Amino acid sequence: MATMDQPITLDLPLDWPEPEPGCDVCTALAEQRANADGRGDRSAVTDCNVEIRNHTRRHRRRR
Ligand SMILES: [Zn+2]
Repeated sequence: MATMDQPITLDLPLDWPEPEPGCDVCTALAEQRANADGRGDRSAVTDCNVEIRNHTRRHRRRR
């Protein structure tokens, strides 16, 4: 097999789930994550990322 050229994103951590628009939980977690990121608290950022991923199939959306 030939070697594939894979672009590497350096400015984002590997695990950076996007919050679901309209989901209250994601919105709150994304806000916490932004705050943690702003103060350089990497472990809090990771916690928020894990929480967002964990409930990704159970978004709370209003109809
Ligand atoms: Zn959500």
